[in-house]
Amino acid sequence: MIKKPHFISIVIPVYNEEHNLPLLVEKIQNILHKIQTKYEIILINDGSTDNSKNEIIKLADNNKQIKHMHFNKNFGKAVALNKGFQIAMGELIITMDADLQDKPEEIPVLINKINEGYDLVSGWKINRKDKLEKKLPSKIFNYVIGTVTGLKIHDYNCGFKIYRKELTENINLYGEMHRYIPALAYWKGYRVGEVPVKHNYRKYGKSKYGMERYMHGLFDFMTVYFLIKYMSKPMHFFGKIGLFCSISGFLILSYLTIIWFFGERIGNRPLLSLGILLFILGIQFISTGLISELIIYLYEKKSNFK
Ligand code: UDP
Ligand code: MG
Repeated sequence: MIKKPHFISIVIPVYNEEHNLPLLVEKIQNILHKIQTKYEIILINDGSTDNSKNEIIKLADNNKQIKHMHFNKNFGKAVALNKGFQIAMGELIITMDADLQDKPEEIPVLINKINEGYDLVSGWKINRKDKLEKKLPSKIFNYVIGTVTGLKIHDYNCGFKIYRKELTENINLYGEMHRYIPALAYWKGYRVGEVPVKHNYRKYGKSKYGMERYMHGLFDFMTVYFLIKYMSKPMHFFGKIGLFCSISGFLILSYLTIIWFFGERIGNRPLLSLGILLFILGIQFISTGLISELIIYLYEKKSNFK
């Protein structure tokens, strides 16, 4: 028995999925009619260059539950999702891919799981229907992110997720940050769960991501890691490096000063350049830390008095 939400939003990023859209919408509507809940389907066209735009407009003409928005260029899935979150009115928001790899029939599974007391539930493609060259790096990716962030879930990359509205209002996505939503949410103190979902092979169109996703993923991961660990205390990060550099520089310069007193020439010693470099670098790191602290202080002050 499913505890019905009053209103549910389905957010779908669309990039060149013209052949998948009609069936996708039909399947979602069928399942939501069964649950008998009010809903909206939000299609965010992320600058498609095929016929997706016309297809979406045609579908929306026949279905008042469909909302749509079209980007002039391809901004990426995270930006599309972010836009969807801004528009969504449901108390529960589901995101899913447009390519029918996520099965609309699994929507009740997500709803049931979030009703167990979570703020975010991520799908887990237990039997993933993709090529091995995609599955293997993904396994490593999940392991590393899980270990570092402390949130051990199996499938960070799954596009099929359900959120409480409040959570989506507190998360800002850009670049390829969508992969880290569970980690960011967990870090903000939300309850994050996962539930196995069935997965399909892609029938029409092709995958938009190749191996470069892991490269970009690594950079994004560094950002997320920094945000998670040091967002509220950047001085702990910059200060540590700064202190290490400036103390090393100071020791080197002290050593050179002492031997200079004993009459040795130090002007042509590479150690002198190293000492000066380290010292200046250290001061710079510390100043960056102070400026970051100041920015956070001002930001907090502003948001507290809103
Ligand atoms: N997508 C998007 N913008 C992009 C790339 C992808 O909106 O720049 C959408 C795409 O249309 C699909 C979802 O994101 O609905 C997942 O993309 P894809 O199926 O290519 O990823 P994969 O399943 O290969 O991980
Ligand atoms: Mg896909």
